[in-house]
Order: sequence, then C-alpha cells, then structure tokens
Amino acid sequence: VANAADAVPVEPLVIDGHWDFHYRYFAGEAASTFFAGLREGRILGAECPGCHRVLVPARSFCDACFVDTGDWREVGPGGILEAFTILTSKHYGLPEPPVVIGYVTLEGANTALLNFVRGVDLTDLEAAAAGLLRRPPVAVRFSDAPKGRITDFHFVVAGS
Ligand SMILES: [Zn+2]
Repeated sequence: VANAADAVPVEPLVIDGHWDFHYRYFAGEAASTFFAGLREGRILGAECPGCHRVLVPARSFCDACFVDTGDWREVGPGGILEAFTILTSKHYGLPEPPVVIGYVTLEGANTALLNFVRGVDLTDLEAAAAGLLRRPPVAVRFSDAPKGRITDFHFVVAGS
C-alpha cells in the first residue's frame, strides 16, 4: 500500500458535462402577482408598511424591517440605469453578444430590477460603457404579446 507522501502527483481529472433538464418552479404569491402584472404590461412592486419602500421585483417581506409587504404599487415606466455589464461572450440561452444587462431603479421603486438594456450602440464598447456610466434615464418597453415572464420587457435608454 502506497503511503500518501510517496504518491506520484497526477494531473487533475477534467470531465466535460452538460445539464439540460425541464423543471417546474413554484413562484410563490409575491412573484406570481409580479408576473401576472407583466402579462398586463405593468411592473408591480410591493410596499413595506414599515419603511414604505417599494420593493421591485416584489418580495413577500421587507428585507430591512422583516415584516410582510403590503400594498401593490405600479412603478415605471421610466427609471435610472444604476449599474450594468456588457456581455461579450456567447452564453447558452442568451441573445447574441454583445448584450447589455442593467440594474434599473424605476420611478416609484426603491430597489433595482435587472433586465436587458437594448438599443445601445455597441460598435465601440468603450464609448458605450462611458455613456452608460453616466446613469442615463431609461424606459421600460414591453413586447407586443406579454406572457407573464421577465422576458416580456427590456429597458431602452431614453431618447433612443
Ligand atoms: Zn421595510
């Protein structure tokens, strides 16, 4: 029996794998209401009865006050791009790169919502990033046939 100290180092084993499976996801009451709003072309947030922040996407409880959220509030369609990334590599299930993904705080909301930012001129990525760093105003744009999915809408930089 070989002693571990005498063991000859081996190359770490690398095995390619692939996951591709169907599943069902129980969204819960808050997310279900949020997605039902999307189907109607509305973005809904849940207001905390304690701090009165409007949480978007909706949560069932306030992460600051630890109380159940209360009334629903429609937010947007305008907002401010708070943070972004420009994706330049191909990822399974995402649009062809380059793609902008951004966090937007919509009018009437106190938290930011993540989605694609479309219509940005990406021929010069440095110039595009410099423009987006100025936290431009953006607007929500819904698809013609919303289905109650996060992909029902994206953001566009205002004026584009
Ligand atoms: Zn609160």
